[in-house]
Amino acid sequence: MLKGESELLSKRNITENVLELTYSVPNDLTFIPGQFMNISVTAPYRRPYSILDMKDGEVSFMIGVGEPGKGSDYFKEVEIGSKTTLMGPLGRFKLNDSSNKKIFIATGVGIVPFIPMIKELLNPADGVKIETELFFGARFLNDTKVVTDYLGDLITTDNNLIVMNAITKPEHDELDFFHGRVNVLIDSRKDNIDFRNTDFYVCGSNEMIKGVRTQLKELGADQIFMENYG
Ligand SMILES: Cc1cc2nc3c(=O)[nH]c(=O)nc-3n(C[C@H](O)[C@H](O)[C@H](O)COP(=O)(O)OP(=O)(O)OC[C@H]3O[C@@H](n4cnc5c(N)ncnc54)[C@H](O)[C@@H]3O)c2cc1C
Repeated sequence: MLKGESELLSKRNITENVLELTYSVPNDLTFIPGQFMNISVTAPYRRPYSILDMKDGEVSFMIGVGEPGKGSDYFKEVEIGSKTTLMGPLGRFKLNDSSNKKIFIATGVGIVPFIPMIKELLNPADGVKIETELFFGARFLNDTKVVTDYLGDLITTDNNLIVMNAITKPEHDELDFFHGRVNVLIDSRKDNIDFRNTDFYVCGSNEMIKGVRTQLKELGADQIFMENYG
């Protein structure tokens, strides 16, 4: 576990409102997919951010900057080479050790913990790939880049991975995408899901988590693991 100064090594826009930032960490620091780190933003404030990836002395994050706030304003302005304190990895949100099918449900930057989790599932030590589905909800079609940039190459039938997107503000016909909230994806797949024997992982805003949890419970889900971004 690190509590120390890190340097911002790179910063890029994934979309207009989402940044990818990479910081330096000690070479031997590792994480469990799903964990987060606390980043000091404008003193004395710090904010938790899920770890997108960590290897070879670098950790990366995906941070939404669409709404004003202490963290958001800081990350919009921060320049490569600047230093701040990182603490972690922290948190117990991680993959449950079961052979159940896994369904991940995320909106916006709630996708972050699921990217390393899904990569881990697709690279199992015993070679047996567990059936995995990802239901992603976004405002605009372009926001689905946060999925395709990181998982696009992995969405193959060989990988047993199904990814579905729902868009609340379609600008054109966008025929390949569902229109509406992420809940429409659960509804559309409900006849193909054995709710009692599936592990559900949910990440997003408070309101999204509550709505999805209620829907899953009504459909008979039992194993629901949640990370609430507030
Ligand atoms: C375990 C965990 C992991 C997380 N991982 C991620 C992640 O990977 N990526 C990510 O982007 N987020 C993540 N979050 C959320 C993140 O920690 C912050 O809550 C988020 O970035 C908002 O922080 P902020 O400091 O920008 O906003 P805050 O300053 O905390 O403000 C909260 C909200 O108040 C409103 N607000 C604040 N100031 C103003 C203003 N001046 N005018 C109008 N409205 C205002 C905005 O709606 C704002 O979003 C995670 C949260 C948790 C708990």
